[in-house]
Amino acid sequence: MFPRSPFLHLKVKSNAVLKIYREVDRDIANFKSKTSLRCLPGCGHCCESPKIETTVLEFLPLVSKLHKANRISDLKKRIDVSGNSNICPLYLPAGIVSVRAAQHKGMCSEYGLRPLLCRLYGFSVVRTKDSKACLVTCSLIKDFYKARYQKALRFISNNSVFPVMNNYALKLSVIDFSLGIKQYPIKEALARAVEYIESTAGFNSMAKAGV
Ligand code: SF4
Ligand code: SF4
Repeated sequence: MFPRSPFLHLKVKSNAVLKIYREVDRDIANFKSKTSLRCLPGCGHCCESPKIETTVLEFLPLVSKLHKANRISDLKKRIDVSGNSNICPLYLPAGIVSVRAAQHKGMCSEYGLRPLLCRLYGFSVVRTKDSKACLVTCSLIKDFYKARYQKALRFISNNSVFPVMNNYALKLSVIDFSLGIKQYPIKEALARAVEYIESTAGFNSMAKAGV
C-alpha cells in the first residue's frame, strides 16, 4: 500500500521505476557482453526521431530530481523552445560528423534518468503475437556492425534469456496503471510528467497549509 502523503507516494513510485531501470541496465550490459553489439561511437541518431513514445511514469524519476533541485522551470523552457517539433527536448545535437548524413553526433542531457525505450532500443527484443523474438535495433548497427548483428541474432535464436521489451513495460505499468500504460509522444509525456509533479506539489502545499 502506498503512503498517504502525495510526495512520499511519488517517491515510492519513482524508486520503483528506478529499480526496474537498474534491472534493465544490468540485463542490457549482459546482452551486450554476450553479443558484442554496440552503438556507433558518439551516435545519437535515434534520439532525433519524432516518433519516440513513452509513458508519463517513465519520466517520474527525472522530473522528481529536477523538482527537488528547483530546475523544473529550466525544463519547461526547453519544452517550450522546442515549439512544434516532436523531437525529444532532452536531446543535445552536436552536428554532423560523417559524410553519411544519417550519422549524427549528439547526446542525451539526462542519460542516467532516460526512459525505458531509450535504454532498450538497439539491444532488446519484442515478442510477437506468436511468441517470436525479434531484435529491435537500428539500421546503423545493422550496416556498420554486420558481424555483431548476426551474432546477436544467433544468440537470440539459441538462447532463452535476453532483454524482452514487453516484460519491462508490463512491470512498469504495474507501478501505476494510470501513468504507466498510455504512451505519448516523448515531448508530451515529459510535459505531462511535469504537470503531474506540479499538481502533486500544489496538493502538498495545500495539505501543509491545512486548506
Ligand atoms: S541505437 Fe543506433 S541510432 Fe541509436 S545511438 Fe545506437 S547506433 Fe545510434
Ligand atoms: S530521453 Fe535522452 S535518450 Fe531518450 S530520446 Fe531523449 S535525448 Fe534521446
